[in-house]
Amino acid sequence: MQTALNGLKIFKLCFKFDSKSSCCGVQSLAGSGSIRKRFRILSSEYRRQRSSTPVPEKVQAVVIGGGAVGTSITYHLARFGMKDVLLLEKSELTAGSTWHAAGLTALYHPGINMKKLHYDSINLFSQLEAETGQSLSFHRPGSIRLATTEERLLEFKYQMQRQGWQKAPQKIIRPEEIARLFPLLNMDGILGGLYNPYDGHIDPYSLTMAYASGARKYGATITLGTPVEGLKPRKDGTWDVVTPQGTIVAEKVINTSGFWAHEIGRLTNKELPLVPVEHQYMITKPLKEVKELKTEPPVMRHLEGSFYMRTERGGLLIGPYEHQTKMQVLKDWANKGVPKRYFLTCFGKELFQPNLDRLSDHLEVAMNLVPVLRDADVQTVVNGPIMYTPDLVPLLGPYYGLPNMWMAVGFGYGIIHSGGAGKYLASWIINGEPPFDLNEADPNRFGKWTSKEYIREGCRNVRYEQQLHLSERREVCRASDVSCFRGLQGDAGARCRNGIPCRMEQPAWFSKEGDMKGYKPSFHRTNWFDPVGRECRLIMDKVGILDLTPFAKIDVTGPDSSAFLDKMLANKLPKKGKTNISHLLTPSGKVYAELTVTKLNDEHFFLITGSGSEMHDLRWLNDHARSWNSNVNFQNLTDEMACLSIAGPFSRNVLSKLTEDDVGERAFPFLSAKIMKIAGIPVRALRISYTGELGWELYHPSEHTLLLYEALLSAGQEFGIGDFGTYALNTLRIEKGFRMWGAEMNMDSNPLEAGLDYFIRMDKEDFIGKSSLQQILKEGLNRRLAYLKIHSSDVDAEGNESVWCCDKVVGYTTSGAFGYTVNHGVAFAYLPPFLTVPTTKVQVEILGELVDAEVLSSPPVEIEAIRRRKTKQQ
Ligand SMILES: Cc1cc2nc3c(=O)[nH]c(=O)nc-3n(C[C@H](O)[C@H](O)[C@H](O)COP(=O)(O)OP(=O)(O)OC[C@H]3O[C@@H](n4cnc5c(N)ncnc54)[C@H](O)[C@@H]3O)c2cc1C
Repeated sequence: MQTALNGLKIFKLCFKFDSKSSCCGVQSLAGSGSIRKRFRILSSEYRRQRSSTPVPEKVQAVVIGGGAVGTSITYHLARFGMKDVLLLEKSELTAGSTWHAAGLTALYHPGINMKKLHYDSINLFSQLEAETGQSLSFHRPGSIRLATTEERLLEFKYQMQRQGWQKAPQKIIRPEEIARLFPLLNMDGILGGLYNPYDGHIDPYSLTMAYASGARKYGATITLGTPVEGLKPRKDGTWDVVTPQGTIVAEKVINTSGFWAHEIGRLTNKELPLVPVEHQYMITKPLKEVKELKTEPPVMRHLEGSFYMRTERGGLLIGPYEHQTKMQVLKDWANKGVPKRYFLTCFGKELFQPNLDRLSDHLEVAMNLVPVLRDADVQTVVNGPIMYTPDLVPLLGPYYGLPNMWMAVGFGYGIIHSGGAGKYLASWIINGEPPFDLNEADPNRFGKWTSKEYIREGCRNVRYEQQLHLSERREVCRASDVSCFRGLQGDAGARCRNGIPCRMEQPAWFSKEGDMKGYKPSFHRTNWFDPVGRECRLIMDKVGILDLTPFAKIDVTGPDSSAFLDKMLANKLPKKGKTNISHLLTPSGKVYAELTVTKLNDEHFFLITGSGSEMHDLRWLNDHARSWNSNVNFQNLTDEMACLSIAGPFSRNVLSKLTEDDVGERAFPFLSAKIMKIAGIPVRALRISYTGELGWELYHPSEHTLLLYEALLSAGQEFGIGDFGTYALNTLRIEKGFRMWGAEMNMDSNPLEAGLDYFIRMDKEDFIGKSSLQQILKEGLNRRLAYLKIHSSDVDAEGNESVWCCDKVVGYTTSGAFGYTVNHGVAFAYLPPFLTVPTTKVQVEILGELVDAEVLSSPPVEIEAIRRRKTKQQ
């Protein structure tokens, strides 16, 4: 009781805390009407415990866990036509995090693709009641995110520039409008708000019942009191799902077990990057002033105070996101599992003891914001577990290494995500590819480097909703693994900013004597702007070294390698000793991945793919090899092989000092590869550079990186060699018109609209996605990727900005930067084809301004190979 008493002490001046409601476990629920009702229903059903219903012998899909997420997936699978969908729930529906959730629903999300989940959920919530007859208590009073600092107002402008091309409405409103919408607010210090008029809240219990009722209507079976106790893979790729009522053979298994996800993961010997944390909200007794409000006010989110607030039955519900130093991370639960016995029963419908101490700072801000709170009586404090991932984005999709096992776990906001996540996963399961790009939720994005400490620290640090600068996210959550020579580069002022979801940090830029140290977060050009310019000039005029170790490297060997890759890739296979860029497409012709492919011999190919997409790509390759019965092997070399890139006009001079091999233009032309020794170190050298300048990527055993780096550095002294980081690389590649996977191309775009025609060989016999591309060619493109010159001054495009023409949003940028070579802003943008005609004038929305831009006929800077060819011809 210690914690509750502390809470009482702190609040006795302000809140009259009902001591009856401060107890632990189920008693803490005395009070709140709707919560109490949810608990009463649940506890009576809960007593039923183990089911005696026999389970079927064989089904198409088993969904494990009947919370909001599991029932939504079951509903969607059945609705999309899958037969034999079986949801197994160990106790009762909602008996995890779902039953006590605050039920907030929002169209807003800072991530671009995650917004789509929210949009799909809210659309579904709006129809589900009519479809199932289950009342949902769905309220849509809107929501306002409050700005109490100038920087926060800038963030709202930043969020708006990313919203214009999205479907959901959102706008910035002035303080007067906020006061009108929520008359009980103290408006001191409120500078504005980000308003989403269709946000609100829903009853999570009723929502789950509606999904369940819809699922049953479409033919799914839901069996309660049936715990999954074992999962055994079968040779044919199906699963034995073991329950006390019998074993079921399932073609697909979907883990939706909420904060028991570790237990289910461990049945297959997998550790998932998840940790449960406590989350609390409190509800006051009804307040006269709240009851007198004529309309329900919008849900408030105070970002600096880090809490949400809404009305609940004439009172106020306040839910703080606790400060990282106070947040209760359930380390034991993550390590040993959810306790089997918790008070009188196993944990499920229980709550933790409230801890008002941890909420005090937030509640103080809340009382200042809504002064009537000072006289409020606390009626209920709900403190329950939520499962977090280190980046607060769920694990959603198929799991590498466990064929036909799907994850839908780690939901910090599982109520609002449930509808969209169910639709997304069910379409992927049924159609063989995701309906849209949601790579940030890939269940394999955290590699084996993700330690338990990293997961815990990540969860503490990532207060996604509150964060001002998205880049801060990368700063706080640092990867545990760095290249072995980072100490040396650190001396050179490396600033690492690639945290998650990449296994290794990579330097973003290097500060030198006289530069401001560290990173100064800003929406405007900040302290990296000049160093990045210096590095770009280094590459254009001299020579630089970049650490590309985080790239994933895969060897493909075996008698079927050529035939297999030829069918997988949209480009022709390179000849022996040559390298090319090839794409893995989905059946509908979207870009699943971009690979650098090198043929070492007929039965040996070397694939390089982006940082952090190692498992993503391996999963796709493995799944196809298995289903086509191809005799190929994949060896993941990512850990044992490092890569240093050397680029710039003097890179050949540097290399030739360190090798006896001929690295001249004839002997080692562009897009060729050699196995050679550099400074005595065995290297797979590829004549390729994402900078678009003369350059090589040098793949070598990781243990030699330091030696190689020092050798390059020393040989390059006379040519003015230096380090460069990923920011300079990004600028240089945009200037040259090189697309980036995840920005210009992803599972939302086809290679034709992305301008990748050069890499797509429609004259090849067949490859995945070919027939869809043929259809697209027949029908014509709806949009095209254009290069923009942007007349930006103090802030540059970075991607995802809305592009305007004649007062309308006509498209969006995919990436952007300041082009130091051309001295103006540059960006890629998707636009309707008629607006991609060179010299067309458009505007790019950047921090509330419409900045003039024009469409260029070609990339602003030619690549070195073209410049050289042109010079020769003159
Ligand atoms: C206090 C609080 C407030 C919240 N407020 C919000 C909010 O406002 N908005 C929002 O979007 N989210 C909110 N959340 C988060 C939300 O509650 C969760 O993200 C969501 O409920 C997760 O749903 P789920 O279906 O993934 O898991 P759960 O609801 O935990 O369901 C998992 C189910 O799996 C079952 N299960 C487990 N193991 C087995 C097994 N071996 N065999 C069979 N069945 C099994 C369990 O019994 C359980 O029913 C809140 C959470 C808390 C704690």
